[in-house]
Amino acid sequence: MKKYYAKNILLSDGWATDKTLTIANGIIIAITSGQDHEAEVFQGAVIPGMINCHSHAFQRAFAGFSEQGSEGKDSFWTWRTIMYKFLAQLTPEDTEIIAQQLYIEMLKVGYTRVAEFHYLHHDIDGHSHSKNQSQAKLAIMAQAIFNAAQHSGIGLTLLPVLYQYSGFGQQTPTEGQKRFINSTTQFNQLISDCYELSQEYPNSNIGIAPHSLRAVDKEAMTIAVDHVRSLDAKAPIHIHISEQQQEVNDCLNYYTKRPVEWLINNMKIDESWCLIHATHINEKEQQGIIDHNAVVGICPTTEANLGDGIFPTTDFLALGGSFAIGSDSHISVSPIEELRWLEYTQRLIKQQRALITSTNVASVGQSLWQKSAASGAQSTNSNTGVLSIGKQADLLVIDDNKTALFANKNQYLLDSIIFASQHNTIKDVMVNGSWVVLDGRHPKEQVSADKFAQLLTKLSA
Ligand code: ZN
Repeated sequence: MKKYYAKNILLSDGWATDKTLTIANGIIIAITSGQDHEAEVFQGAVIPGMINCHSHAFQRAFAGFSEQGSEGKDSFWTWRTIMYKFLAQLTPEDTEIIAQQLYIEMLKVGYTRVAEFHYLHHDIDGHSHSKNQSQAKLAIMAQAIFNAAQHSGIGLTLLPVLYQYSGFGQQTPTEGQKRFINSTTQFNQLISDCYELSQEYPNSNIGIAPHSLRAVDKEAMTIAVDHVRSLDAKAPIHIHISEQQQEVNDCLNYYTKRPVEWLINNMKIDESWCLIHATHINEKEQQGIIDHNAVVGICPTTEANLGDGIFPTTDFLALGGSFAIGSDSHISVSPIEELRWLEYTQRLIKQQRALITSTNVASVGQSLWQKSAASGAQSTNSNTGVLSIGKQADLLVIDDNKTALFANKNQYLLDSIIFASQHNTIKDVMVNGSWVVLDGRHPKEQVSADKFAQLLTKLSA
């Protein structure tokens, strides 16, 4: 048991001053007024850690390698072809190096938990790692992700991806997709193996991710959901849903329904579902997501980088919707940048200001942070996202010297950080009650960065 004193802290019901937190086994077990004489003092204002609801870790090593234009002919689909060529060479060891480097970067900017949408399952030839080995080896790539999370100290929600087809109507997978493909039986075995791993690795859990409606059919998705539910009744289920207009058109052609519309009509959607890139969506579909208490996962920098489109965030919030944020392709790794883009795209569309607020919170920055952290926790079925008694101690300490002068009042602090700070303002990071970043540094950052640099040299040779 340990005590910490915060002069300023963002609790679940708003900013508070002069509080002592008691933390035991990673959980906040008491919050009392005043400074306990035994308490260690937080060296700045304290806010809850952010949850990254959507990550493809290996893509971090590829970020920046696909920005060479070809006369306006580039699109999400041409980017995907380049990405497939890149991933074809990655070993489990490479994947662990990339993921560990990425997760350290995430921690330093304030992500304390990540939902890893993991689809690189098989070896370079596309064979299952279990071939001629024990079945436990089926999860060898997943284990690389568990290792990376544990060594970095970030909380992990692993979402192995069910991927079976290259397009609507059970189209044969392409050569570039061979490392993703599992039969439904093999996928369920993989999930059982990953569930066992999650019991061994601290601060981790698993769910599943049917990749998209173009890659999975109803029968396989239903079997996979039932299986993971038999292991964990609240396991998160994430799906890429309507990222590209072409995907919507293909879905309409095949199912005569729009993607979100089809999903709501055909699957039992509930609060454990997270619809990633619900970008192209109408009002009826928005209402359907809200009626089923699901969350949308928005990845503003990746969606901008890939030319996906803009999710109608303010309309969705006005109807009562919930959103989480993700860094997806990791073209950028910063919750600040995701949230800034989320608000600014709405301002540009609506030609208005200060849009993502709450009834009782006037600060856009605070509103963005609290909404996305709380829904991120829901999307990962984790006991995180807010600071209150009974919640996991995942928290960030802000470096007061790096925030703008007008941030000397709590009500302006997150506005200053999200809209006006030019530097990383996160000083210390605690996950599950333990410090993982102190004074802006992670203890493994240099070793990890060196390994990552060596790997990039090899991969880009
Ligand atoms: Zn994705």
